[in-house]
Amino acid sequence: MRRAFIAGNWKMNLEKGSAVELAKALVDGTRNITDRDVLICPSFPLLPIVNDIVSGSNVWLGAQNMYYEKKGAFTGEVSADMLKSVGCEWVILGHSERRHVFHEDDSLINKKVKSAIEQGLKPILCVGELLEERESGKTEEVVKRQVVEGLKEVSPEDTAKIIIAYEPVWAIGTGKTATPEDADSIHSFIRDILRDLYNSKVSENMRILYGGSVKPENIDSLMAKDNIDGALVGGASLKADSFLRIINANIQS
Ligand code: PEP
Repeated sequence: MRRAFIAGNWKMNLEKGSAVELAKALVDGTRNITDRDVLICPSFPLLPIVNDIVSGSNVWLGAQNMYYEKKGAFTGEVSADMLKSVGCEWVILGHSERRHVFHEDDSLINKKVKSAIEQGLKPILCVGELLEERESGKTEEVVKRQVVEGLKEVSPEDTAKIIIAYEPVWAIGTGKTATPEDADSIHSFIRDILRDLYNSKVSENMRILYGGSVKPENIDSLMAKDNIDGALVGGASLKADSFLRIINANIQS
């Protein structure tokens, strides 16, 4: 059985004081959690201070992005090594805001995925279609391309270090959630792609998160679906009470 995984993406939100307060509340609220992984991804400047708080707790630390080169003249970028040195275990790659606001393409995202793995960071590879792609019946085509290109030249063994997050772009920050049935069927489609690319074991073992307006009110119905292994949460991860409710979702065994 796949271990549940709940991740919070703070995006470009929270200043130092509220980040410290939230991180402390999450460490306290997850003290007794043993059956699922919990991750928070603060903005770059907050990583060291949040690391001091979550270190040794049940909360993992991750970053929201990285560059694939190891070092050099890449103004404004950060490397996997830098992120590891401030306690990151995970990194979100290919988030829809990186794809659509910052024009990152599949080839760049694939370089980042491979570089993260080589340097010991675990990627959360985000995929998902735009509203116009969904409306024109292209959801599967887009998701397939993003999964296949994102995982290009990644070995079957290394897939154990990767999580996929299906995040339909029209559901991110909009209050619109894919129905649990819709999300489950795309997750199942992603498992088919993984079976074709690799084998049944990879397809069955890889964790696939849903993201897009996940809230305390909808987390249980999403987690009830066979192919949904957790959530990548934006807005509702910025408040301790809502994120802790999501973290404590009912998990079907
Ligand atoms: C996200 O940032 O990945 C996300 C899913 O945001 P929200 O939960 O706010 O829709």
